[in-house]
Amino acid sequence: MIPPLMPTYARADLAFERGEGARLWSTDGRCFLDFGSGIATNALGHAHPHLVQAICQQAGRVMHVSNLYRIPEAERLAARHVEASFADSVFFCNSGAEANEGMVKAMRKTMAETGRPERWRIITFEGAFHGRTLAMLAATGNPKYLEGFGPKVDGFDQVPFGNMNAVRDAITPATAGIIVEPVQGEGGVRPASLQFLRDLRATCDEFGLLLGLDEVQIGMGRSGRLWAHEWAGIEPDVMSSAKGIGGGFPLGAILAKEHVAKHLKPGSHGTTFGGNPLACAAGNAVLDIILAPGFLARVDRVARHLWRSLLALKDRHGDLIEDVRGAGLLVGLKLREPATNTELQARALAEGLLTVAAGQNVLRLAPPLIITEAEADEAVDLLDRALARLRAALPEPVAAA
Ligand SMILES: *Cc1c(COP(=O)(O)O)cnc(C)c1O
Repeated sequence: MIPPLMPTYARADLAFERGEGARLWSTDGRCFLDFGSGIATNALGHAHPHLVQAICQQAGRVMHVSNLYRIPEAERLAARHVEASFADSVFFCNSGAEANEGMVKAMRKTMAETGRPERWRIITFEGAFHGRTLAMLAATGNPKYLEGFGPKVDGFDQVPFGNMNAVRDAITPATAGIIVEPVQGEGGVRPASLQFLRDLRATCDEFGLLLGLDEVQIGMGRSGRLWAHEWAGIEPDVMSSAKGIGGGFPLGAILAKEHVAKHLKPGSHGTTFGGNPLACAAGNAVLDIILAPGFLARVDRVARHLWRSLLALKDRHGDLIEDVRGAGLLVGLKLREPATNTELQARALAEGLLTVAAGQNVLRLAPPLIITEAEADEAVDLLDRALARLRAALPEPVAAA
């Protein structure tokens, strides 16, 4: 019989009753180091006192009122995001897929309102992940996710990641813009080179296209800067955020330059929950911490420490680990067959470390941004043990004849 909770996930038989910082305690009494962060979402770790207090206080005042009224918490959060980024204006929603849908709508509407309505197609990349709505499945382009859901939504042209010639070849008179993750998350923790991001910006300028960045996973400090594109020294026209922006409270956002944002007028886009007082109280509390002096520099320092240890781990286990890749505190260990990411994930879990699998046989590490160097060391030790056990369980290599 089907379980009451729809079985859309192959869940581990594990539930948690409490968390604190980077630790989680399961209902059967075990303690785990959480290097998954609810898929890069618990930016401040678990039960961060400042976030908890902000949510409790706001819930006791007013939780939801609808966007028919002014929402001071949302106005403040938007103003702070504008102050801290390339953006001139922000739209709040509830998830990454929803932010991306809105970003595509904003790009198309900008073209339509500036006399180019025939430009409505978006170039996306192989290995991308933009969400599970019908249009974002098409933007994502993964055949596995599309199968059985009818005709793929039209309007997305996919090209190989990192290939500038392919991008230029794909531009037609119907192209509105390009959407790219500065670091592909689900697709296998693949970073775009900074030069590729700069070339995309230049190509958009050359052809009059809009550059949209999906920073749902790598954004909000995970790269060591507030937004990952800052490393490339470029600015997008529009960008999506979610995951870490609410620190675990559902919150998404579209951040845009004025020349894009001004085309979303009353009636052209909306949401019931998006940007409600409770979500924005959470968003403001997250910003209080992430924008505090020294916080991002500390993320960068801890990330570099983690990377050094992981590169040493790769040297010790070069037969199993092919590559260490990603950016900041979003790191992928690309494994060599016959070692698999799901097998290593299970063995890491048995050692007390939570991780997330990603595409291309990559094990993803996305710890909370508040981890210490000692916690990074502990995670690498647990991985070291998990790798040793994984090796011991692999079939003996067939001796060369
Ligand atoms: C997770 C993710 C999404 C989808 O976010 P949801 O909140 O699950 O809808 C979109 N883009 C990227 C890059 C993501 O990592």
